[in-house]
Order: sequence, then structure tokens, then C-alpha cells
Amino acid sequence: MNEKLLERVKGFEETLEKFPEVRYAGDPVLRQSALEVTVEEGIQLGILLGEVLLRYREAVGYGRGFAAPQIGENKAVFVTFVENKLQTFINPKIVEKSKETNFYKELCLSSGIMSADVERSVWIVMEWTDTEGHNHSERFDGFLARLYQHEEAHLRGKLNLDEAVDGGIEFMLFDPLKEQLRDKR
Ligand SMILES: [Zn+2]
Repeated sequence: MNEKLLERVKGFEETLEKFPEVRYAGDPVLRQSALEVTVEEGIQLGILLGEVLLRYREAVGYGRGFAAPQIGENKAVFVTFVENKLQTFINPKIVEKSKETNFYKELCLSSGIMSADVERSVWIVMEWTDTEGHNHSERFDGFLARLYQHEEAHLRGKLNLDEAVDGGIEFMLFDPLKEQLRDKR
């Protein structure tokens, strides 16, 4: 008996019960291109998403981002929770990214207990609108570049599983809080 796997399966069962609003891999809404929203719609969705993300973090102890398609809304909004702060990104677009890449075993609420090693750009430039209606264009690297690329991919109908490197999908038996960005596979 693989104890670790059994523990993960039980944890996932609890997640399924506690978060009935979450959509999982196989749901067509996760594989669509999200539509642009008004700032007002973005604010409302951000509130909903933020509530689920905080509840999820409380339940499992991790989770950094959550995108509207993951609650069945085909809309271009995601939220993140970084440094104790929830932030809403309305109509985000990655407009530039580095050729240089790194690797990371990504988890996703919508991918259950499967993780995917995904190769992504080291840095990006992202444009978005905030909840006050202000437009931003900013460069990010490190962990934030990774997080934003994962969330933005949701808005293009891509899950981490869809973008995994060859042979990079596995059950999440490692400690997600100890996972690091790697230069190589
Ligand atoms: Zn995700």
C-alpha cells in the first residue's frame, strides 16, 4: 500500500466535498479561451475567486492562484495570494517573455493530485487592469513569473497537464512547499 498516495486521495476526496464549485480536468470550460470582462465584472469575479482561494488555503495549507474558468466562468480574470495579499488581475495578457526557461512541478486545483513539470519563461511582461480600473504593464521574474504564466494559461484554455514536458506528469507525492524552480529537467 502506498501510504502517501492514499493520503493524497483522501485529501482530494475532502477537497471535492468542500469545494463543489471547482471544475476539474475534463470539464470543457477549462479548455476554452476566456472572454474579456468589464472592470465591474472583474471585481465581482475577483471577490468570488478570492473567497474560494482563501478557503482552499485554509483547508490544505497551500495554493497561490485561482482563475475564473476553474469555477466555470469563461472570463479573463484570475486572483493570486502572495505575501498575505489577495490580488485580482482583470483581462491579463502576457505580451513579452524570455527565451530562457526554467522548470517547476506545478500543482493545480483543477488537476487534482496530479502534478505537471512545466517548462516556462524565466521572465515575462504582463499587462492587466486592476480593481480600480488602472492599467498596468510590468515585468516579473522568479516565482511570480511562474505563477502568472500558470494562471494566464488557464485563460487560454490550458492546464498545467496540457503543457507538461514529456514524461512530466506524476502523482503529487512530494511536499509542494519545498518545490523549487529548476534550470534543468
Ligand atoms: Zn491552475
